[in-house]
Amino acid sequence: MKSSEATLLHVCKAVNHITDSEALHSVITNSEIPVSIRVNPNKIQQTLPYEKVQWCSHGYYLPKRPIFTLDPLFHAGAYYVQEAASMFLEQIVAPYTYKPVKVFDVCAAPGGKSTHVISLLQRGSLLVANEVIRSRAHILSENIIKWGKSNCVVTNNDPKDFDFLSGFFDIVIVDAPCSGEGMFRKDVSTIQEWSPSHVDLCSKRQTRILHDVWNTLAPGGILIYSTCTFNEIENEDVVSDFIAQTGATCKQISFFQDWNITEHEKKGAVCYRFFPHKTKGEGFTISVICKHNGTEFEPPKRTPQAKNITIIPEKNRLHFSNLIQNYQSIVYERQKGIIWSFAKDYRKFLLDIYMHCNVIHAGIPLVHIQGHKLNPLPGLAFANSFNSTILPKLEVDLYTALRYFKKESLEISHMSKGWIQLTYKGVSIGFVKNIGNRANNPYPQEWSIKMNVHQNQMWSIL
Ligand code: SAM
Repeated sequence: MKSSEATLLHVCKAVNHITDSEALHSVITNSEIPVSIRVNPNKIQQTLPYEKVQWCSHGYYLPKRPIFTLDPLFHAGAYYVQEAASMFLEQIVAPYTYKPVKVFDVCAAPGGKSTHVISLLQRGSLLVANEVIRSRAHILSENIIKWGKSNCVVTNNDPKDFDFLSGFFDIVIVDAPCSGEGMFRKDVSTIQEWSPSHVDLCSKRQTRILHDVWNTLAPGGILIYSTCTFNEIENEDVVSDFIAQTGATCKQISFFQDWNITEHEKKGAVCYRFFPHKTKGEGFTISVICKHNGTEFEPPKRTPQAKNITIIPEKNRLHFSNLIQNYQSIVYERQKGIIWSFAKDYRKFLLDIYMHCNVIHAGIPLVHIQGHKLNPLPGLAFANSFNSTILPKLEVDLYTALRYFKKESLEISHMSKGWIQLTYKGVSIGFVKNIGNRANNPYPQEWSIKMNVHQNQMWSIL
């Protein structure tokens, strides 16, 4: 027997008391991998002609896996390719969004849960999305900027660095690094990397992360803990030990029986499992932990002094005030001449987080000031609050849109010189500067399409 087959059997058998492990094994070995996406409701309003993910208002299954890189709307943050099971997060978070809330996504890259949560939050809410691995934090930042919401901060820190935000958050999400059992069907390399000692190591790391961030949760708040594993060691055992040590309790989640989610309780830990033989998607386990007591947040007494940003005084803001609409914002300079905006209600918080954390981005990119010129930053094109009346617009075809995302210069002969906003299927995709014989393309190199674009492979979700 090949060693990966032995591993697979071992992992399936370990949950035989929770589900039919033979059926689980058979589906992991023999069935097709479902493909699912979650649409950005601020960019795509129409219903798509695909099977819905039952527990997510904007989730769909696609009939087969396309080359996502060759759809401009994938690059424009119009949808996110995400495991269907993970979209269950909506059922947990939605009841808390009747008022503005503050959310901390601790292990956030590449941004599946973060982009989902920000679409659920009310105006006036805040999301801090953190990722400890630097390269992954930049991918997270790109995905969040493209999703287009204004109220997000992306940081690149260790979970323990957030102690200065004691009692600050209403919801903390720990989508923990894990042994990856739930991904065995999708990524066979996870089978080879799996071992009992890795599970053990993961469970210790998961416990450490939970303890590191617990203090940041307000009393009365919830911590959502999830892994893409089936075993009890990384789920029930981590959660039950944690609630025993902290005096927390698990919350029960209601769901429709025909969603086929498996609820399992052990020593007070209540976990909800998505098994691939029962729900259409990969393996996933989630649990909700309620905090009953602890420190309430106390804002810093003195205004924090962040040295790396300068808030631009109200009287000097005139140049920037028409770039975004319907948005109570402050404007700040990050590096020389690079201007961003952030929610006014969170001015002190912005200074505080810049002082304590390695902030990758906060809010919405606006412009780069060069001499007397204001050049729009590429990320501004994706912002929902961008005031698109300020620039001439050009709707481009599929091939041109992909050339833009490949960072090629474009030919635009029939429009006047200067900055132009490009749209594809009505969705804003970026800016080019028309200089007459060609249009310069400022799309960031690190975000650009690296593969060749063959016209017969191009497609679009709309
Ligand atoms: N929440 C993400 C999403 O929905 O797209 C997926 C998160 S993934 C399951 C777990 C993340 O935890 C990875 O990005 C990984 O880099 C990060 N991670 C790894 N070790 C960590 C640690 N010691 N503390 C915090 N995060 C860690």
